[in-house]
This record gives sequence, structure tokens and C-alpha cells, in this order.
Amino acid sequence: MVSSADTVVILVAAGRGTRMGGETAKQWRTLAGEPVLAHTAAAFRRAGLDRILAVIQPEDTGLLAPLGLPWVTGGATRTESVRAALEYLAGDPPAYVLIHDGARPLASPPVIAGVMAALENAQAAAPALPVTDALWQERDGRVAGTAPRDGLYRAQTPQGFAYPALLAAYRAHPGPADDDVAVARAAGLDVTITEGDEDNLKLTWPADFARAEAILARRRDQEGAILDIRTGNGFDVHRFGPGDGVWLCGVKLSHDRALQGHSDADVGMHALTDAIYGALAEGDIGRHFPPSDPRWKGSESRIFLRHASKLATARGFRLSHADVTLICERPKIGPHADAMRAALASILGVEVGRVSVKATTSERLGFTGREEGIAAIATATLVGR
Ligand code: MG
Repeated sequence: MVSSADTVVILVAAGRGTRMGGETAKQWRTLAGEPVLAHTAAAFRRAGLDRILAVIQPEDTGLLAPLGLPWVTGGATRTESVRAALEYLAGDPPAYVLIHDGARPLASPPVIAGVMAALENAQAAAPALPVTDALWQERDGRVAGTAPRDGLYRAQTPQGFAYPALLAAYRAHPGPADDDVAVARAAGLDVTITEGDEDNLKLTWPADFARAEAILARRRDQEGAILDIRTGNGFDVHRFGPGDGVWLCGVKLSHDRALQGHSDADVGMHALTDAIYGALAEGDIGRHFPPSDPRWKGSESRIFLRHASKLATARGFRLSHADVTLICERPKIGPHADAMRAALASILGVEVGRVSVKATTSERLGFTGREEGIAAIATATLVGR
């Protein structure tokens, strides 16, 4: 599966948009009360992609600030802007990049998911729509001929690539190019065509804004009916026994005791796994991994969490957020909470900003207060795609 946590979205927003007229470049103009680029970024966040890099002109940093996106300085051409973003990412290379026009604010989750899915079997993929209108040659205001439209497509974005392959392609192609697909093809990469969407328009002419506003209004009307948001909770307890450490949320902490259980007894991961099963109304860990089955004895709890996560994906949901609270007097969780968040996010294939791990004591009351065991509660929020 192409992981959203391993994918960076590059929003190309450095152009000056001269065809639109007016002082403000089109990616910064207002659409339904917000800058166009804010809609564009939101389209990717809705699809579960949080790692977004904007390519802008330095004088636009004030316009970008409210969007909270990291940025790099673009070049004089689109090719130079994409090149700048790709080189910027070389220090901490992602597995995949999606390159998208900043002035294309209505990319739908299915269009984005189609590109991501195609990248499982290809180094490059991009959405497009077949040409259905007749194509004419014009001379002096008259039709001078027709051109065959068979096999012709109108290219859209996001265009998706295996990052190392595209970086190498750009480095081998110093000159200008029509788009990223042209650079990729010049380097010999095959580009899979995925399904585009008529609504995924690029704002080019003033009338495009009116059309985009109408599409947004229609989507808002539909959203209340189709958005499927589910919250599940999970609770788990494991008792202390002899040992030299505890597994909590995928991290082993040294301790003067260990948690007992059939698996590695990772109480936090069990609670979160049950929360995901709960959101799906799919029972609990015990139903999917019966403790009576010797296959799961001593197994790593990441197997359970991964199973729940894949089940959510298969059912058409993505994890929007997870929150785990560990309840214990010792060991101290705070210093390790970020490592735990990173471990869970990696197993779930989501950005770490979607995962919370925190802890509380029970004021020395009850079984956790007497240090007889550790309890955990978790909440998972799933959003239908
Ligand atoms: Mg358990």
C-alpha cells in the first residue's frame, strides 16, 4: 500500500496567472471566502495527505502564513518551481510525491486515491479525461481542418511519482518541459493514466471561478448526506508480573516488572486496536485473534493493530485521528510519548500529527494506583472515503 505518511504533496503556486487579469495571482484570489490555495491544500488533507509543501514566490509568504504550510521559493517557470521543490526534499526524501497545480482547488478524494493506488504498480501515474469534443484547426476565424481525437486525453493533476525516479529524471533534464509527465517520460518512466474528473478544473479564466463556486456549493449540500464519520473506543488492562520492561504503544520501556498477557501485552496498542474495531462495529481483538489460538502466543501487538487498520481501509474508511491514554503510576510515559506516537503512526501509515499518546496516574487509587497493572483507553475516529 502506498502510505500517505511516505508521500509529500507539492503544490505549485509560484505562477503569476497573467491570463486571469487583475493584480492578484489566481492561486491567492478568494474562492467561496478563502484563498484558492487553501481549498487546494484542504482537498489533500481530506484525502489523508498531510505532508504538503507549497512552492511560492517569496513576496507571497504573508498570503501563505494563514495556511500554515512549509514552502520553498519557486522559479521563473513551472519546471524550475518543481525542480526547486524536488531538490528541497532530497535531504529527507519521501517515497512518493504528488505534484499538483495550486490553482486546481477541487481535486476529489477518488481522483487522488486513483493516483495513489496506481503508484503501487507504477513509478508514475496521472489523472486525465478522454477528449470528447471534435478538434478543429483554425485559420482566419474559419475552420481550416479537423484533427483526430482518438486516444487523446486532457491531462490533470495531481501527477504522482516515485520520488527517487522523478528526482533522477529532473536532474537528467536540465531544460524546460511541458509538465512533470514529460520529464518523467524523457527519462523512460511509464506513466499510468488514471481517472480524472470534470470538476477537477484548473482556474484559468474569470468564468472558472463562478463554476468552481457552484461545484463547492453542490458538494457542501451533498456532504452532510454522504460524510460517514465514526468514533470507536477501546479499553484494556494487563497485570504486572516479573520481568524487566513493558511494551507500551510499540515502544519497550525498561521497568522493574513486565506486563503479563497472551501476546506482548501492549495494553495501549490493544486499546487502540479495539477502538478501531469498535468504530467498524467489528467486535474486538479477541474475536479476530482468539487467545485460545496458540498462533498468537507471544505475538507482537502490531499485528493486531495493522489488521484493524487494513480492515478499515478495506471497508472504505481512513483513520482521521487516534488518541490513547495510558493509566499508571510508573513507568513515566511523558519522555517516551513522542516515540510512541511515531511507532503507532508508522504502523497505521498516517502522519504523526494524527496520533496522540498521553498518560495519567490514578492518584495512587485503585489497581493502577497500587501498581498491580496498567490500564489504557483509546479513541479512534474513522472517516468514510
Ligand atoms: Mg490486551
